[in-house]
Amino acid sequence: MALISKSRFLEYLVCPKDGWFRLHRPGMEEFKVDFATGEMMEQGNIVEGYATKLKIFSGPNVKYQETFTADGFIIRCDFLVFNTENDKYDLYEVKATNSLKDKDRPHDHISDLAFQTIVLEKSGVEVGNKYVVHLNSEYVRGEELDIEKLFVVEDVTDQVAAKKEITADKMEKAKEYLNQEEEPEDGCRCHFFGRSRHCKTFRHSHPEIPEYSVHDLSRIGLSPNILTALVKKKTYLLHEIDDTSDLTPTQQNQIHTHKTNETIIDVKEIAKILDGYTYPLYFFDYETFAPAVPIYKGYKPYEKIPIQFSLHVIDKKGGELRHLEYLHQENSDPSETVAKKLEEYIDPAGTVIAWNDKFEKGVTKEIGDRLPQYASVLTRICGQMQDLMDIFSKQHYVHKDFRGKASIEKVMNVLLPEMSYDDMPYTGNAVGYVWWQDIVNQGKDPAERAKKLQLLLAYCKQDTFVMVEIFRILNETINKK
Ligand code: SF4
Repeated sequence: MALISKSRFLEYLVCPKDGWFRLHRPGMEEFKVDFATGEMMEQGNIVEGYATKLKIFSGPNVKYQETFTADGFIIRCDFLVFNTENDKYDLYEVKATNSLKDKDRPHDHISDLAFQTIVLEKSGVEVGNKYVVHLNSEYVRGEELDIEKLFVVEDVTDQVAAKKEITADKMEKAKEYLNQEEEPEDGCRCHFFGRSRHCKTFRHSHPEIPEYSVHDLSRIGLSPNILTALVKKKTYLLHEIDDTSDLTPTQQNQIHTHKTNETIIDVKEIAKILDGYTYPLYFFDYETFAPAVPIYKGYKPYEKIPIQFSLHVIDKKGGELRHLEYLHQENSDPSETVAKKLEEYIDPAGTVIAWNDKFEKGVTKEIGDRLPQYASVLTRICGQMQDLMDIFSKQHYVHKDFRGKASIEKVMNVLLPEMSYDDMPYTGNAVGYVWWQDIVNQGKDPAERAKKLQLLLAYCKQDTFVMVEIFRILNETINKK
């Protein structure tokens, strides 16, 4: 019988079947951790490292990372602090999140502490108060990091007490379920949920469901009754859906293009959007790094550092394409340099074109919040921003191979099949980690650093170049019709 760790138990709470796979098939391809996920997990270790410096965890009465096993369960407690007032151990769990809730998971940290409390008590340890130590989302770093202000220590003793009985019950069920030798047939209920809820092992539990199915209908997770009815009828393929009257217009378009192979192009609406752009046109994209523990003055936990941007510029209709870019290469806050360059590069007359501009607007606004002397120019730039994705997300251009999505990659794959991100090993969040580890920090192999530098520059440049090309294709399309 395998010992059930806290992680396995918490995974079981999220999904019994996934927990079983993780316990019995840990080598599955699906569980391989990619670079960005590994680095994100490492942020948790970094946070825990800082927590060890808190005053409450100094002194002889503190046990750090002690392991306990009892009754088929195993835990390693972050901190146990002996309370001489009641001769009990207070239990502290450190979380690299900004609040008591773990955003990505349906359970909260209370179940975690209830599990630990039960195992400790079964091991003969008397547990006093229970605390969650998490990052303080309001903390703004000064010149130096103030560890005491970086964290919030929340007393959750009563909440843990309220959840103890039900947790004990679930622990027994978890032990029984997870210790089945054969793969359980039950446990995976995600066939009643949209694709975004499926974990990577979904296809093992539901080989009958095709790779592209009704689960991929745009936002179908928001209509659980419709999805459940389709699944119960074993209607998995989009072209098997006869009645689309209850579906959203986006879902209807997705099915229509899939069934007919037609592409929906609303020339009038696309022209209206493109005609609203004024030259010079600035195709713009940031890359950021968002460390859990702020590394520069003025930042909050997980606030995004604007480490890089790419700007493709077309000064006038039919004009040449120029490229401007910036990648910060020192271990310092890039905000001021970025703000100065944006002020210099972006003329107030033009339109700044981004893909999913909420992100670019958010980062730009945050720079202005940190640097009030640039706030007005950055507000001006935010005001110039337009979202090229709107054409696709608002259904003015729908291709069957978008599969109900409007990401730049999906659109690129269809409109620019000769382009790809396949030879770009660092994309998305991975960029920030590479920047921090290989570009900014000294002592790295210079050749390796130069290589990574080129990869980061190429990736950001490609993002804006793809936008330029999509803009060009859209113009050609509306001019042809
Ligand atoms: S797909 Fe959903 S229910 Fe199925 S194993 Fe994964 S998380 Fe669990």
